[in-house]
Amino acid sequence: MKRLIALTILTLPLATASAQGAGEWKIHSMERPLPPVVHPGGAAVVAPPADAVVLFDGRTMEGWQSTRDSSAAPWLMADGVLEVVPGTGGIETKARFGDVQLHVEWMAPVPAEGNGQNRGNSGIFLMGRYEVQVLDSWENLTYPDGQAGSVYGQYPPLVNASLPPGSWQSYDIIFRRPRFDSTGKVITPARMTVLHNGVLVQQNVALLGPTSHQVRAPYEAHADRLPLSLQDHGQAVRFRNIWIRAIGERQ
Ligand code: MG
Repeated sequence: MKRLIALTILTLPLATASAQGAGEWKIHSMERPLPPVVHPGGAAVVAPPADAVVLFDGRTMEGWQSTRDSSAAPWLMADGVLEVVPGTGGIETKARFGDVQLHVEWMAPVPAEGNGQNRGNSGIFLMGRYEVQVLDSWENLTYPDGQAGSVYGQYPPLVNASLPPGSWQSYDIIFRRPRFDSTGKVITPARMTVLHNGVLVQQNVALLGPTSHQVRAPYEAHADRLPLSLQDHGQAVRFRNIWIRAIGERQ
């Protein structure tokens, strides 16, 4: 009997944590606990390794195009920085990727304007579908699954490792694409690990489906390689030093 009680005590909290971790929270729930703030030491500024595909080095937008019509990328490039031109739509890489390691540096506009989701919002969409949220989450309340470092609408970051607006911040993202069978059914979901300013904010989470707003969307089968895209959410977020490495199987 004693053993039974001990087992119950042990398993109950685990079961609860597991259910919440699996995305049992309602999308954009404000009931969800806010991630604790952890001030990072600074952005992780990492030069591209030799086998990386450099997507933006400050000198050209050649590797990018408009997500609307594949015309030239409509964003601003000045002083080695790529900046969202609000209202022009997102941009995507001409190259296509599957499993990757991705490094991105970004900066939210200063002075900060707007609140919640309208403050320094952009996004990094792996395969054009799976978003790591870019947001000015420095003293800016919003739903936890929509703050900086979240897998948007699914997983809040483990901690809020944001720097103030006007600071360069970094994301290092490890992404494993979903696998589908021949009928289009998902066999293994997409997975993501994310470091924000060198701090772990997502640890190998299994994505519930593609990114969506207000209602979660189910997986739909897609190609093994697709463009990476950056979001225009109406705010002049800046980017620099973007590189990506395809991840292959172990030799
Ligand atoms: Mg966004």
